[in-house]
Amino acid sequence: MKCRVCREPAVIDIRRHNANFCRDHFLRYCRDQVQRAIDEFEMAAPGEQLLVAVSGGKDSLAVWDLLLELGYQADGLYIGLGIGGYSDVSGEYARAFAEQRNLHLIEIDLRSEHGFDIPTASAVTRRVPCSACGLSKRHLFDGAARAGGYDAVVTGHNLDDEAAVLYGNVLRWQTDYLGRQRPTLRAANGFPRKVKPLVRLTERETAAYCILRGIDYQVEECPMAAGNKHLRYKDALNEVEAQSPGTKHDFYFRFLRQAVDRFVDADRDASTLEPCVRCGSPASGEVCSFCRLIERTADARPVPVEFLTRRKSKK
Ligand code: SF4
Ligand SMILES: [Zn+2]
Ligand SMILES: [Zn+2]
Repeated sequence: MKCRVCREPAVIDIRRHNANFCRDHFLRYCRDQVQRAIDEFEMAAPGEQLLVAVSGGKDSLAVWDLLLELGYQADGLYIGLGIGGYSDVSGEYARAFAEQRNLHLIEIDLRSEHGFDIPTASAVTRRVPCSACGLSKRHLFDGAARAGGYDAVVTGHNLDDEAAVLYGNVLRWQTDYLGRQRPTLRAANGFPRKVKPLVRLTERETAAYCILRGIDYQVEECPMAAGNKHLRYKDALNEVEAQSPGTKHDFYFRFLRQAVDRFVDADRDASTLEPCVRCGSPASGEVCSFCRLIERTADARPVPVEFLTRRKSKK
């Protein structure tokens, strides 16, 4: 197996491009794919201040590293979700990455700053943990970007993530979600611009990127993700991809080219949002969903993460 560019021994094969690369040319391929996504979807301009949502996993650390390599200015934001040992370890990886490179990492701790954690919020609302988690992360990333004057929030969603979400949304024709699947969501209604520069890279490629760049990351999956339907959608798409390399890419990028404009983004296209009376974030009612979550969990006894994972494994 030889590198497509220099004919030296290759370290990775990328079947959907019918290409193999050595270490250096693979790293260049990753940078090129990210720059291409940034340019094609107008994600960021030179000189802008970016805020990367950092989880401590491979994708968020890879995107932070790639943006810096490409010359962008990017700080990180880590949210302590209170998901037991998983959150403790994830925070350590995020901190170590920032410290080693002398980068600015903002930290928000849900429990000490807002009075709840994800397992408790899930138990109180009787909904899957990812629901309270997604809501909290969106709210806190948006708020931090506004407060810090950042031009855009960057997330580490990769091609596998976006194709799996699209697959799930199409299976149920969730048209309100389809409108939000662009890799760049423009700033509007008090929401900052949101961008996903890794949409041209797969999970396997971001993992390989981290290994080749010597980036240590949290390899464990979040314990709340077990049984998550997106993991099943990923498995289903991986089976198709194994038979027909490139299907995942075409599924997502043809959707962007041919269909996404038919759907609206309720957050950005709506004209009815008003500032939340408690925190000032854009809200569809008087009080935003995050402030309602704070209220609902205010008197709840903390629920340990093991309680939810045990309950799940019994089902
Ligand atoms: S799997 Fe769900 S609960 Fe865990 S970090 Fe992701 S969104 Fe949050
Ligand atoms: Zn090479
Ligand atoms: Zn609010």
